[in-house]
Amino acid sequence: MVTRKSRQEIEKMRRAGRVVAEVLALVESELRPGVTAARLDELAERHMQATGAVPSFKGYLGGCRYGRGPRAFPASLCISIDDEVVHGIPDGREIREGQLVSIDAGAIVDGWHGDGARTFAVGGVAPEAKALVDATRLALMAGIAAAQPGNRIGDIGAAIEDVALSARYGVVRQFVGHGIGTCMHEDPQIPNFRARGDGGRVIEPGMCLAIEPMFTLGGDDVDVEADGWTVVTRDGALAAHFEHTIAITEDGPEILTTVGAPAFAGDRSV
Ligand code: MG
Repeated sequence: MVTRKSRQEIEKMRRAGRVVAEVLALVESELRPGVTAARLDELAERHMQATGAVPSFKGYLGGCRYGRGPRAFPASLCISIDDEVVHGIPDGREIREGQLVSIDAGAIVDGWHGDGARTFAVGGVAPEAKALVDATRLALMAGIAAAQPGNRIGDIGAAIEDVALSARYGVVRQFVGHGIGTCMHEDPQIPNFRARGDGGRVIEPGMCLAIEPMFTLGGDDVDVEADGWTVVTRDGALAAHFEHTIAITEDGPEILTTVGAPAFAGDRSV
């Protein structure tokens, strides 16, 4: 079921989105060779607590469900390095020069979620790695620009896939964007590619969507590691991941995972 959020509800999601943007900026400022993923996770969780937010990911079981135990996601951030695409578990590994580090943050404020991700290049990286990161960021903005009222959900994936096709990047198909609200993962699913069929549901004002292209320097296939969470490229190729939570307004898409004034699709501050 796809829900449409009221203006007041979108305001609450904007607060959650702001915390997500702050967390990503904080983590970026601390990201350097030698820092551990666990340390970044600790900083993120502390910031969320200080702002009265709750991490969306900690204790997550899937769907709208949370709990304890070995199947629950154990951290506040997902940190995925190099060939890890998404859902990496922060641990004591030290970040190294030349790595691609994808950081996904989710925050709940007053029961409403925000979800956002960015891939960072640590120090100097290979030119093709930097180009992959730039293209994935560009694809996110192209997907957001396509999220206009009256368009269809499929137009988002088509816009994203077009960016990937231009440089023959792999597009991960097993993990997709999603509706978001009082649950982190709501309907509709938002593929990052042209799906078969009529293009899916018409986009309407009040929909809140998390758009999140995942591109690779190789193929589309991914596997889940033995930890039950970490998604890696099957061919070991580098991956990048960018995500924003947006609200559809009468005037078009509005980015919620941002610090400060509303940012629109033409804004480069992703
Ligand atoms: Mg997401």
